[in-house]
Amino acid sequence: MLQQLFEPTLAAARARLGAVQSAAFARTRNALNGAVTGLSPYITHGLLSLPEVLAGVLAREDLDLQHKFIFELGWRAYFRHVWQHRGDAILSDLHAGPLPAGAYATQLPDDIRQGRTGVPVIDEAVRTLYATGMLHNHARMWLASYCVHIRKLHWRCAADWLYGHLLDGDLASNHLSWQWVAGTGSHKPYLFNADNVARYAPPAWHSPGTVIACSYEALDRLARQTTSSPPAPAKTVAGQPEPALSAQPPAALGARSPDAAFVRGREVWLLHPWSLGELPPQLPPNTALVFLVVSDFHKAWPWSERRWRFVAQRVAELAREHPLQCWHASAAEIGAALAASTRVRSVDEPHLRPWLSAWAECRAAPALFPAVAGPCASFSQWWTRSTRGLQTAAELLAVNQEPAW
Ligand SMILES: Cc1cc2nc3c(=O)[nH]c(=O)nc-3n(C[C@H](O)[C@H](O)[C@H](O)COP(=O)(O)OP(=O)(O)OC[C@H]3O[C@@H](n4cnc5c(N)ncnc54)[C@H](O)[C@@H]3O)c2cc1C
Repeated sequence: MLQQLFEPTLAAARARLGAVQSAAFARTRNALNGAVTGLSPYITHGLLSLPEVLAGVLAREDLDLQHKFIFELGWRAYFRHVWQHRGDAILSDLHAGPLPAGAYATQLPDDIRQGRTGVPVIDEAVRTLYATGMLHNHARMWLASYCVHIRKLHWRCAADWLYGHLLDGDLASNHLSWQWVAGTGSHKPYLFNADNVARYAPPAWHSPGTVIACSYEALDRLARQTTSSPPAPAKTVAGQPEPALSAQPPAALGARSPDAAFVRGREVWLLHPWSLGELPPQLPPNTALVFLVVSDFHKAWPWSERRWRFVAQRVAELAREHPLQCWHASAAEIGAALAASTRVRSVDEPHLRPWLSAWAECRAAPALFPAVAGPCASFSQWWTRSTRGLQTAAELLAVNQEPAW
């Protein structure tokens, strides 16, 4: 069923874009059944760029530059900005949080992993995550806040677990959002209580009489004390088996070892899991198209079968347009095979740093917001700088024209 929900085709991505209701989004996006877009799996894998998303919406209506929808696209771009400037430092505490790092456990407990904490909002979030590979933003915030502030888990181990199961897993948006909730990337911890859940979630998620059924003052004290709140007795809730994560792409991808003979003496266009949009319109004749799975990355960051299937099906769609080879190998083996080609090009992607830029001339992925020189300490600082001098959403869209080769 989920493959229908997030069908990995350009047509499905465009249909979702065509269904965006910006006014309803602004009014209801905090509610689990609100008019959120479901665009993130397509944006994450490059089927849609942020400029394409905004252009798609502006083709139907004008938006104020300060519209909530543009703001949310801004969060994604801001997290990428932080990643660009801080590099792998985003995987560790950016600054001190409410408690010293050593006060938090570093292993995700089984009752959270199996969605049997006895706190309905958490168990429903885990069930939804495993059933769909997606979670509403509010549910991600609740899950993260519960893990860190109530169960005293270091955000990093829980962020790694969530990343693996998400269809839209993105190291910048995911890990920096966890830091924002934890208070190691923001000024204060994000807290929520049962009343907040009752306001924004359907009844099955409501959690009266649980550890979160208390005031924000009590939650704040809890976040700043080192003792964690024990889970409800496990036997009261059935729980979910955790889907396996894998470093291996599925057989359906038809991946093989790098084939130097395929690229020898030819120009190469490299595709990767984050660049699955339209093929460039003017590939020189005889260009060899190669889709890469870099094992060094996936050994560290395994994916769910659902995400692998999403990627494999989109690659199969691309292969119907243009013959291609899929390579699955270490960065060293891929680099050695590509050395036989005359020229290699690709779209840049920070998940593949440092390898991709060593093999290929990389074009930047289309950006919606102007680049801001120097790191910004907060989203509001970044927003002010990146939209300086702009009055309308149309002006924002016009700022960054895609660079030609
Ligand atoms: C703990 C946690 C982990 C997260 N992990 C990821 C992740 O791995 N990948 C990811 O893409 N997003 C992540 N987000 C951000 C956000 O939850 C998702 O982008 C959003 O829920 C995706 O659903 P949607 O496409 O329906 O979003 P919509 O609400 O419809 O928003 C439209 C688009 O705006 C962007 N966006 C919206 N909210 C945010 C946000 N808070 N931060 C960054 N971009 C945003 C996304 O590209 C999204 O597709 C995380 C948030 C939290 C709190």
